Amino acid sequence: MTDKNSTNSEQTRHKARMKEQKANVDKRIAAAQEDKGLLLVITGNGKGKSTSGFGTVARAVGHGLTAAVVQYVKGTWDCGERNLLENNGVKFHVMGTGFTWETQDKEKDIKAAQSAWQHSKKLLSDPTINLVLLDEITYMVTYKYIDLDEVIEALSNRPKDQHVVITGRACHRAIIELADTVSEVRPIKHAFDNGIKAQKGIDW
Ligand code: ATP
Ligand code: MG
Repeated sequence: MTDKNSTNSEQTRHKARMKEQKANVDKRIAAAQEDKGLLLVITGNGKGKSTSGFGTVARAVGHGLTAAVVQYVKGTWDCGERNLLENNGVKFHVMGTGFTWETQDKEKDIKAAQSAWQHSKKLLSDPTINLVLLDEITYMVTYKYIDLDEVIEALSNRPKDQHVVITGRACHRAIIELADTVSEVRPIKHAFDNGIKAQKGIDW
């Protein structure tokens, strides 16, 4: 067989494989008929959880949907997404005392977490909010600053069409079970491990 002939037959096989793949995808798209508000969880130890959550908010707002954000852990720096999204009608609620890893006042942190949670519950019962991002809420559940059963109840009873994104490491398995879509971000490498400090526009 000449080189040209083998290239042609490779192309034919490739075309047939692609056709089959497209038919499979089309079949699955046609079978997916349900419309519903989704619960998404972005967890894991790698970088990209909050950026994914904010990206989803941007995507929704770009389609004219309404969105609100509750940030359970306040970073040391201001949040680039907040600067952008607040100008586009997204309401932000940043946890009261600005819980960080450095705070040592547990009682104060619990109070702040509870207040952010009360606000989150309001959002989760408001049918005019199409998407709610609960950024870093997983830690509040891990530390038992907010009650897991209450979180499950509020998520389960939210308006039928409302989407929710939850981010943070070590998401509780009960929330994972309830969720429709769960992604785990796995670290392969991170610049910080090579002594590079957090970069504006990339890390916050
Ligand atoms: P991002 O906000 O960049 O999407 P994230 O939400 O996945 O990150 P967090 O645990 O919330 O991760 O941490 C936020 C900050 O910590 C970011 O500045 C991020 O770059 C950094 N970070 C995230 N994962 C790692 C890691 N595996 N090693 C070092 N730094 C990390
Ligand atoms: Mg994060």
